[in-house]
Amino acid sequence: MSEIAILGGGPAGLIAALRARQRGHNVTVFEASSVVGGMASSFEVAGQRVDLGSHRLHPATDPETLSLIRSLLGVDLQERRRNGRIRLRDRWIAFPLQTKDMLRNLPLSFSSKAAFDTLAKPFRSNSNKDFESEIRHRLGPTVVNEFYGPYSRKLYGVEPSQLTTELSDRRVSASSAWTVLRNAVRTSQSDTRIFFYPKRGYGQIAETLADAAVAEGVEIRLHSAVEQLVVGDADVQIVTSSGSTDARTVLSSIPLTSLANALDPPPSPAVRQAIADQRTRGMLLVYLVVPRTQYTPFDAHYFPSTELSTARLSESKNYRSGDDPEEISVLCAEIPCWVGSELWNADIETLSDIVEEDLARAGLPVTDRVHGEVRYLPSVYPVYEHSTLQDRVTIDNWARKATRVVTLGRQGLGVPDNLHHVLAMGAKAASAIGPSGDIDQSAWQDSLDDFASHVVQD
Ligand SMILES: Cc1cc2nc3c(=O)[nH]c(=O)nc-3n(C[C@H](O)[C@H](O)[C@H](O)COP(=O)(O)OP(=O)(O)OC[C@H]3O[C@@H](n4cnc5c(N)ncnc54)[C@H](O)[C@@H]3O)c2cc1C
Repeated sequence: MSEIAILGGGPAGLIAALRARQRGHNVTVFEASSVVGGMASSFEVAGQRVDLGSHRLHPATDPETLSLIRSLLGVDLQERRRNGRIRLRDRWIAFPLQTKDMLRNLPLSFSSKAAFDTLAKPFRSNSNKDFESEIRHRLGPTVVNEFYGPYSRKLYGVEPSQLTTELSDRRVSASSAWTVLRNAVRTSQSDTRIFFYPKRGYGQIAETLADAAVAEGVEIRLHSAVEQLVVGDADVQIVTSSGSTDARTVLSSIPLTSLANALDPPPSPAVRQAIADQRTRGMLLVYLVVPRTQYTPFDAHYFPSTELSTARLSESKNYRSGDDPEEISVLCAEIPCWVGSELWNADIETLSDIVEEDLARAGLPVTDRVHGEVRYLPSVYPVYEHSTLQDRVTIDNWARKATRVVTLGRQGLGVPDNLHHVLAMGAKAASAIGPSGDIDQSAWQDSLDDFASHVVQD
């Protein structure tokens, strides 16, 4: 039995802890915050449990992970029908797309151009290797100009042509407009529009995972930000504000920049520079409390237009049938921006006004808000720029050679992955630890290759 340290009590860290413990190791989780769950946690606003932006458990979750979550949550894991909308040229289009709705609501000028693009696909070549050209090649110029172009400009803060095809590979599954149409037909005909969601908010997944890990004997230390990792030949000393502990192996799901800063000896200057050069886009989450039972019946509204700051609006209550307050509903507006920008530093009144103006411009009802709150996520979307492509190769080569400290998870690997992906990462990392507590390098490298094929679900 060996000592294993897990850095970060988000979903990736928690499942790694549970699985490593089940393999017979002594496991301690070090979490900086006062709660577990990371980006997938829930908390209360005005007595209503809310998430950090719109979160769903997608049916694409692999059977093993889904069965674990089902066993943890029991009847609290509800199966729900998706009910979202996209604002496109002053019209609402159902999301996920459905054929009848598209025929009824897509502006004729849009659908006729998109239909022409579809027929013209065999004649489109793609010589430029960037996100915009790749999507243009697959789905045509209309979809790029009206949706993916502005939406990615908004999420990533750069021109879509500055982004590499890593993003299209990881975020856009449709290979052609025919695939989009086929999916829309399926969505219309059968009940494929489902998702899973816990009764007490998305954070209930991480909370029950943490409970299960503790029940197995894992120690979770909250308020324990890792400051230094002194790496020796046979072990690692983990230094936090409250003391130090030794472990044979460390599985880290904290941001890569924090990990690189904590390592002693540090990574080479080239690796440190490569890590420092990676930009990630931050996100403000603005919560507005509206004084009525329901604001709209929809779970999420998507706003691709760059004229609005809000990228997505969600209404927590509509994701579940839960014990929520009757007299209010809480909206969550996701505003992507750069950390330290004017928007990032704006006060809650200014941010609430910005959101309300966005909603009015999109034709949504006045909120009559009675309260507003903001939460800050400094590192949400990795920005895959051409200028840092080689740096990502440098980081990947370095991460693959790690012996005592392995990096994983959304921020540990700098990926835009879903919860079910990072749960798979945590489980794989734990299974790569042998009986002696050492990492089986070749097994872990195979897993890293598998993770590269993850495609994000929206
Ligand atoms: C707006 C938004 C919407 C999303 N929607 C969905 C969705 O619908 N479906 C879906 O499947 N996924 C969704 N996701 C993705 C999902 O939230 C993430 O994949 C998941 O939370 C990542 O888990 P993680 O454990 O890798 O990282 P994190 O959740 O980031 O956890 C990392 C943990 O490390 C801790 N930490 C940081 N620094 C230190 C330190 N120095 N010492 C100790 N601890 C530290 C943090 O406090 C945190 O708890 C969404 C994400 C966002 C931001």
